[in-house]
Amino acid sequence: AIEVAPAVQALTPYIAVTSQAAIEARPNGETTFKLDWNESTIAPSPRVHEAILAHLSSHRDLNWYPQLGSTDLVDALQKYTGVSGEHILATNGSDDALQLICNTYLSEGDKVVAPVPTYNHFLVFAESRGADITRVCADTAFTSNIEGIRDAMSQDTRILYLVSPNNPTGVVLDPKDVEALCQDYPETLIILDEAYFEFSQVTGMPLVREYPNLIVTRTFSKAFGLASLRVGYLAADPRIIEGLSRIYNPKSVNALGQVAAVAALSDLDYLNDFLAEVRASKELLREFFASKNADAQITPANFVVVRVDNLPETLRALEARGVYVRDRSGYPGLKDCLRMSVGTVEQTEKLIERLAEVF
Ligand code: PMP
Repeated sequence: AIEVAPAVQALTPYIAVTSQAAIEARPNGETTFKLDWNESTIAPSPRVHEAILAHLSSHRDLNWYPQLGSTDLVDALQKYTGVSGEHILATNGSDDALQLICNTYLSEGDKVVAPVPTYNHFLVFAESRGADITRVCADTAFTSNIEGIRDAMSQDTRILYLVSPNNPTGVVLDPKDVEALCQDYPETLIILDEAYFEFSQVTGMPLVREYPNLIVTRTFSKAFGLASLRVGYLAADPRIIEGLSRIYNPKSVNALGQVAAVAALSDLDYLNDFLAEVRASKELLREFFASKNADAQITPANFVVVRVDNLPETLRALEARGVYVRDRSGYPGLKDCLRMSVGTVEQTEKLIERLAEVF
């Protein structure tokens, strides 16, 4: 067989661990709890469905490529992000943004620094470019480790990958720390992955106006509930946008994804209601796990991380009750840990009845 590129040879295929049973049961959330991928547990704003149906009935234009550059979506994002359109690129999920950055800026042997545990798929994109990755481990997984990051950095570090709130630990970075890193490492491209920003409301977004070495990435897959449609975006200095534009595919966001994301941004009341539900649910889970003396991290994102005595048995017991969570025990600092996404109060009350049979 023809061999893959040298940098790709050490990589292994992504193993789809999502339970098909959980997906097939959707949207019947009463019997199945799909809590393994940090998605929203409810349908997006009704305006999203209306916009998609209106698009299909009034245009019937699925034969044409989508609006190039997602310009209507970029317009809507200006208001939402507070940065102007020349700073923004819409992408096919934020994975597409992360891969675009790696493809544009990384060559064989370039140095990349990433505090771990982190969102692993970024590491795959960087590794596929032949990057030399330094993974920074903290003493404890649930605190930020700016000092450790600085120890690993040098002036020839090409990319620093930060996630805030972090997946899978939920650690939120202080924008002041991000700013100091931007100042102190002007030759390093700093990626700030804010896939879970809406849940924490802490952001480094305004910094992209000031620092030409910062890229913020975000997604519609989490708080906005559009994971199936694959819409994300990045924001950065226009000089970075110019660099990325050399590879950027202007038709990367499909037409239905574009109208859906615009519609979702037009209904921030719906978003805020869901964020309030998740906050209240996290309090219920906090009380539940405290009552069981369980070692649980209730994160600022839409997931909790729980350390258990017998993980394989716990996972089996949860699955037997239709509760699908994610095994994160293989991640640095997360021995015996599972991660589980958080939904509405109504869902969480029913979930806790099943958790009570296991914990
Ligand atoms: N970044 C982080 C930190 C994530 O957790 C995820 C999804 N799990 C992504 C990026 C990618 O999400 P999407 O491509 O759906 O935007």
